[in-house]
Amino acid sequence: MTKQQNHVVRELFDKVILPVYAPAQFIPVKGSGSRVWDQNGEEYIDFAGGIAVNALGHCHPHLVKALQEQSEKLWHVSNVFTNEPALKLAQRLVDNTFADRVFFANSGAEANEAALKLARHYAIENFNPYKTKIISFTHSFHGRTFFTVSVGGQAKYSDGFGPKPADIVHVPFNNLDAVKAVIDDHTCAVILEPVQGEGGLTSATPEFLVGVRQLCKQFNALLIFDEVQCGMGRTGSLFTYQQYGVIPDILTSAKALGGGFPISAMLTTEAIASVMYPGVHGTTYGGNPLACAVGCEAFDIINSSEVLNGIQIKRKLFIELLEKINQQFAIFSEYRGKGLLLGAQLTEPYQGRASEFLNMATEYKVMLLNAGSSVLRFTPSLVITEEEIIQGMERFAKAVAKIVINK
Ligand SMILES: *Cc1c(COP(=O)(O)O)cnc(C)c1O
Repeated sequence: MTKQQNHVVRELFDKVILPVYAPAQFIPVKGSGSRVWDQNGEEYIDFAGGIAVNALGHCHPHLVKALQEQSEKLWHVSNVFTNEPALKLAQRLVDNTFADRVFFANSGAEANEAALKLARHYAIENFNPYKTKIISFTHSFHGRTFFTVSVGGQAKYSDGFGPKPADIVHVPFNNLDAVKAVIDDHTCAVILEPVQGEGGLTSATPEFLVGVRQLCKQFNALLIFDEVQCGMGRTGSLFTYQQYGVIPDILTSAKALGGGFPISAMLTTEAIASVMYPGVHGTTYGGNPLACAVGCEAFDIINSSEVLNGIQIKRKLFIELLEKINQQFAIFSEYRGKGLLLGAQLTEPYQGRASEFLNMATEYKVMLLNAGSSVLRFTPSLVITEEEIIQGMERFAKAVAKIVINK
């Protein structure tokens, strides 16, 4: 056997990994709470949370314990058998939402793929084989499988791969007239994110959600809420639809669902689920015991008044500190999103320059994200401490000063 090199450096990425990402120049090796350390022992404050995934920070002791305990019991049995953690997590999701039935998968895209296939199948079984139109929205994001990326509202992600799945239309978000213009008896589903994550943190207006719900009912189309990013506590309630009081027919969850362990879920009602039968859809790893054991623990912690009630308080502190920076440097025109899915829209002189802020922030040892090229995105741990927020914002303020004063 040839001896493999154990020490790796960032340059290796550029040689051995498919070049679909452009990661930062350091390699994180350890995390705890909202702090991360790189190979050189440099410490970062994490306001990104793995793109809204690490909802309980890094290596939360309860999640570590759940993973360790399950890892000594049972890892994988396939879906030829069921398993205890999957049943426990499904029961929690059913007990706390509109849903009666759960399908587990491994990623947001797979949960949405299942949702879209279910909507098409339901319409074909119950109505006719031509009821296949899917209505989606510009700036939406639903994942990278070819079906979900084609349904997503950003052509730059779906172009260049040949013929796309048919019968998908995109209309402007929050524009009910635009939906009215395209919805008809051949529509099987409308899919939307109650708060658009990747697309710039636009929240649906209450009138829009109520209107779309009504139109779906009128035309026997299913309403799918993609809560992969905005769900599981992120906006201050377990799921965002609960704040609007508008109930979807299908809901997808991922990201925070596993607190950093890959898992996703598609939720629906008994009536809709009843068109499915063994063999019609499936996945090898979906609902595996390791992911579900971690998911159960994350669910119980997130779905507590302690965590959920803390979210608006933390949002307020974030905005207060951002506003302090803003008073000095006039870089933000608006705060967007809900809860700890927080966006800061850059003012005119800084439009298109979000990545500059991200890069400078990492120089000053704070991790954040963008949503498009003109919105900075903060999706920290839902249990980030006040001290971590204040310290991270001090670092961010220095990064902003560097950009603004150097120009
Ligand atoms: C991240 C995301 C997805 C895709 O999830 P993956 O786990 O990357 O497949 C889908 N929808 C929304 C709203 C997302 O934010």
